[in-house]
Amino acid sequence: MPKMVPLNAWVCDSCFQEVGIKDGWVEWLSPDKGGPHSFRICHNDDRCQKHTDHPDRQDGHLENFLGIEGMQYFLSFLDIGPLLDPNEEYMPSAPEMRSFVEAFRRLQIPHYEEARKYHSVARSEGYFSDQNEVSASLPSTCESIIKRYESEENA
Ligand SMILES: [Zn+2]
Repeated sequence: MPKMVPLNAWVCDSCFQEVGIKDGWVEWLSPDKGGPHSFRICHNDDRCQKHTDHPDRQDGHLENFLGIEGMQYFLSFLDIGPLLDPNEEYMPSAPEMRSFVEAFRRLQIPHYEEARKYHSVARSEGYFSDQNEVSASLPSTCESIIKRYESEENA
């Protein structure tokens, strides 16, 4: 059984303790030239925020990245949209995709965050050999990974 309430709990990238909606923070770096990168999920405190003193720092409350509004936030990194930029004059630089998409999955796909704990061992055991680029991260796959590997962890 999954232990973390999906889309309500994450593992802080700094202290590795659980972080929730209210005390959660998302930070990344957004240089003048080049796209945003180094997305992180952490506690909203100086101890866990790592980009604090960086001149390219951008950040926001974790809850801004959840649900439909969160999806819209993520999409705005890719294109501010035809309403504000009808002639595509201000297209943003593409984000560092691996970091960006990982943050998106962690904040949008139920059970993905808890399944991440087991991704390394699951991969090494060939769990993903019959998965494709969509199925590997579906909520049902994430739940199956948790059920499969958490029992091993407790054995
Ligand atoms: Zn932390």
